[in-house]
Amino acid sequence: GQLEQLRHRLSSRLASIRHVVAVMSGKGGVGKSTLTTNLAAGLAMKGHAVGVADADIYGPSLARMLGVAERRPKPGRDGVAPPRTVLDIKVMSMALFLEDAQAPVVFRGPSREAFTWKGMLEMHALREFLADTDWGELDYLLIDLPPGTNQFATLHDLIRPAGSLVVSLPNRLSREVVGRSLVLARQVLKAPMLGVVENMAGYFCNGCLSRQPLFDRQAEADYDGLPILGRIPFDPRFVDACDAGRPYLLDYADAPPGQDLMGLCDRL
Ligand code: ADP
Repeated sequence: GQLEQLRHRLSSRLASIRHVVAVMSGKGGVGKSTLTTNLAAGLAMKGHAVGVADADIYGPSLARMLGVAERRPKPGRDGVAPPRTVLDIKVMSMALFLEDAQAPVVFRGPSREAFTWKGMLEMHALREFLADTDWGELDYLLIDLPPGTNQFATLHDLIRPAGSLVVSLPNRLSREVVGRSLVLARQVLKAPMLGVVENMAGYFCNGCLSRQPLFDRQAEADYDGLPILGRIPFDPRFVDACDAGRPYLLDYADAPPGQDLMGLCDRL
């Protein structure tokens, strides 16, 4: 039936993508979209063909961070063609995709029934979104997921990414929330994880040329035994870059956070 067709389309799409990397977080506002944007930029600067999918329908920001928020994707013969940004990164946002079909957003509700409906609609929407986008040949497709484990579970069910990244902040609260998400992801879903990225891990002080802590220094990181793949320092220029719709890495690859981001790209 129709669902079979959709499944088939999805798997043939994914066949032309070498690595799918899901980026998740426990809480919002930890810099997940910022890191996804800059990992995409770093990979592209290293010569890879890169696409990014913004699957966060409730707080989509990737298209804005990459400067293509105003550009509408074009329907083509082989699906919807994603707009291209600087460095030729292909960006597709589920929010643009769902513009005419607001249904999943309507089904927010505390009741179990509404929740199940919402989950089903999101699952279907995510499947269509990934299957109907004409990604072409890619070395990397980075998928920016909403915070929490719901959409991660959905994605895992659909395509089982070979590796996923988790973004956290180096403070106790964020680590605890991420820890809980990880238990679900690894023990219940058996999802393979690449590791954790700690964002805003200190800031680089230009006066003394060293790294200073920003948050709680006592808290010991425990991410269910997962490795920390990178620690990205705080730099206010991330905020300017985000507002300007231009990846930070494009201008600051040599700054300490830029070097850390480039190193992180090699670990994907
Ligand atoms: P999330 O996707 O987790 O909700 P965002 O990527 O939208 O978070 O980031 C939230 C805010 O924090 C943005 O304004 C972003 O520019 C800023 N930010 C993210 N990482 C850093 C950093 N390392 N240094 C300074 N600001 C940052």
